[in-house]
Amino acid sequence: MTYSVRDVEVRAAQAEAEIASASPDALEGLRVKFLGKKGEITAFLRSLGEVPASDRAALGQAANLARERVEKALSERRETSGAQPTAKAGFDPTLPGVHGYPGTRHPISHTMEEIVRIFERMGFVVADGPDVETDYYNFEALNFPPDHPARDMQDTFFLGGDLLLRTHTSPVQIRSFQKRTPPVKIVAPGRTYRNEAVNARSYCLFHQVEGFYVDTNVTFGDLKGVLGSFARAYFGADVRMRFRPCFFPFTEPSTEVDIGCFLCAGKGCSLCKFEGWLEIMGAGMIDPEVFRHVGYDPEAVSGYAFGMGVERIAMLRYRITDIRLLFENDVRFLKQFRG
Ligand SMILES: [Zn+2]
Repeated sequence: MTYSVRDVEVRAAQAEAEIASASPDALEGLRVKFLGKKGEITAFLRSLGEVPASDRAALGQAANLARERVEKALSERRETSGAQPTAKAGFDPTLPGVHGYPGTRHPISHTMEEIVRIFERMGFVVADGPDVETDYYNFEALNFPPDHPARDMQDTFFLGGDLLLRTHTSPVQIRSFQKRTPPVKIVAPGRTYRNEAVNARSYCLFHQVEGFYVDTNVTFGDLKGVLGSFARAYFGADVRMRFRPCFFPFTEPSTEVDIGCFLCAGKGCSLCKFEGWLEIMGAGMIDPEVFRHVGYDPEAVSGYAFGMGVERIAMLRYRITDIRLLFENDVRFLKQFRG
């Protein structure tokens, strides 16, 4: 094939004119005609090896320029004609459409709201407090003196100065008592933190629902009555309950509350570790020392407090065996809950 620089320029100009007036559907055919493997402009480039060495540089430059002109003409025409060759090639109208997934509430949110709703029906009012607390609200006012060994049970993340991430929702008690005078009847849901080794049973972040009631003549019998009503409302009318003596710095006496295992009905299974009972919360009568910190007269008022871990309740309820699943946000896990 012999040709001159002029031949290349003329062919490029003809190609530009042809492309500029082409319909969108014809553009792909024109691209093949000029720039395809056997295209006319491609042929100029391919045959450079055959032309005399003296002409090669000038012809090579002309052929490359011609290819650029044709490419530019094609893309300009695609834009002005509204043709979308690539999108068109990738669209398959026979495929099913993309369905929207409406989503569900997280099992922790759902569990927490359900618990709170039961206590609201019994006259408790919702209150909350900050996640970042001072040592005073998280420990000292709740009768954890500095250097008291009870603090070892609740290691947390210290933020410098006096600040820390709260280890329980109990600081809401102090904040509420400072603002109100008895009777005070509050339920406080919220996020809490502990510096714990992360494994299937514990996590550095979890949620609690705290409840407390202070008035004249509040007794342990009132506490048992309220917690019994809660257990029946949440776990079913035939649930069994027991109280075990325990120690918390801010209640005296203190108790842990168990319910009869609903999976094995007390016979023993892996859920209850073959004990027949499941621990669901801690509770007790508010220690007079806490009342002194907030200016209440321990001789005039009395009250109870209880607190439960929302993850623990959700794990029992939904038979979740690894707490980390609740924080990984794996959609395959979360989709199973229709809260
Ligand atoms: Zn069991």
